[in-house]
Amino acid sequence: MKRLCDGRVVVMQGDITTVEADAIVNAANSTLLGGGGVDGAIHRVGGPEILEACRKIRETEWPEGLPPGRAVVTTAGRLSAKYVIHTVGPIWRGGNHGEDETLLSAYRESLKLAYKLGCKSIAFPAISTGVYGFPFERSVPLVCSVVKEYVSVFEKIILVFFSSRDYETFLLLQTLER
Ligand code: ADP
Repeated sequence: MKRLCDGRVVVMQGDITTVEADAIVNAANSTLLGGGGVDGAIHRVGGPEILEACRKIRETEWPEGLPPGRAVVTTAGRLSAKYVIHTVGPIWRGGNHGEDETLLSAYRESLKLAYKLGCKSIAFPAISTGVYGFPFERSVPLVCSVVKEYVSVFEKIILVFFSSRDYETFLLLQTLER
């Protein structure tokens, strides 16, 4: 684990479902009805209440699904967090299809929503860098730029990397602190 920006940013390797934070961000897909990767883990550990809340959102606010770059909130079910914030990152299509902007938006909309909900801490997985194929190295400066925008708004922003390789790569490439 490494603390940056006077301890306001925590970078760690591990499973996000075990992290203590007011809000945990889910790298969901547009259906909001569950998937693999971090999405699967959050639903598995958080329990059926989260899926039930996602279904309600599909029935009301987003009948065609949540567009990439947007964020919504549900209960965190059995997770220790207060909320799960579901966001949809971009699917990598070569890099010239607005992927960077959509990734920035997914992080930013999640942070905005957490702030509105009064959260003091928020934990993120590496959105879009799994099944969605966004190159991890390219995501690092983007994530750092959004985190910088919001670093003074939260007591703690936690970046959780599942693999130790991603964790090490993030620390090598991060632009939060030199
Ligand atoms: P996406 O479809 O947005 O790419 P994935 O879940 O496939 O989402 O992958 C996003 C990142 O989340 C990947 O780096 C993957 O290794 C990581 N990940 C998978 N499970 C967990 C978990 N339990 N906690 C934290 N990160 C996870």
